[in-house]
Amino acid sequence: MSRALQGKVALVTGGSRGIGAAIARRLAADGADVAISYAASADLAQAVVREIEASGVRAASFKADQADAAQVAGLIKAVVERFGRLDILVNSAGVSVIGPVGDPATDVTALDRQLAVNVGGVAAAVRAIAPHLKKGGRIISIGSGLGTRAPWPGFADYSATKAAVAAFTRGWARDFGPKGITVNTIQPGPIDTDMNPADGAFAEIQKAGTALGRFGKPEEIAAAVAFLAGPDAAYITGATLDVDGGFNA
Ligand code: NDP
Repeated sequence: MSRALQGKVALVTGGSRGIGAAIARRLAADGADVAISYAASADLAQAVVREIEASGVRAASFKADQADAAQVAGLIKAVVERFGRLDILVNSAGVSVIGPVGDPATDVTALDRQLAVNVGGVAAAVRAIAPHLKKGGRIISIGSGLGTRAPWPGFADYSATKAAVAAFTRGWARDFGPKGITVNTIQPGPIDTDMNPADGAFAEIQKAGTALGRFGKPEEIAAAVAFLAGPDAAYITGATLDVDGGFNA
């Protein structure tokens, strides 16, 4: 690990578990002070904070529901008050709700909440952080390979939320570019987390869909985030990077 992010402050939304927790650990290992947010898992979030603090940087966790723009604005304010600045925003919090359109069993309320979390939450965070980011700032969102492809029925709403994140990313790259701030999206393939366990019922078809024939690890997404957050990625903006074992190849 480098110390390329020393002196920077990062916020990782949804940092209590899965991909977000791996990103938080990795940014801390690269020297950043790290704040994480969560919706329900206070204990898990606190454990991630303790682990990060043990590596010698500052860390804190904040409860904030990404579906609520006021809570997200409060989160950004609280992080800036605690750490004095904010340099890197990683939008990782997300939910995955499956339901074919028109199927009476589909929970439309849950689909609408997914839209609020996966799209509304990302937009709210970027709007709230905009006044705080300075030259060299970074916004990195976790989209999905399903933002580009729709390989199975039932994922239309989830796919649409992740396509929206990629579209926001291109637009925001233009908006933030003159300030020297970059905005990018990483589109993971199947990654072994609570959301998508590698031993789950739907795992084999996903593995078979990748070129490498396996699930990815959260740390493999974190490595790409660390690259985009660092100085070597200064000329990359508006990009959508597939980190997916060839799922979208
Ligand atoms: P997990 O379900 O393992 O973790 C989700 C994280 O998001 C948790 O920290 C959770 O907090 C937080 N979260 C969920 N809802 C909210 C909310 N309303 N407000 C604040 N935080 C919330 O998911 P993954 O780690 O697998 O997914 C992370 C991101 O990666 C998501 O955006 C997902 O769509 C994307 N992704 C995942 C893939 C995969 O195969 N795993 C593939 C492609 C994309 P809490 O613990 O409090 O519930």
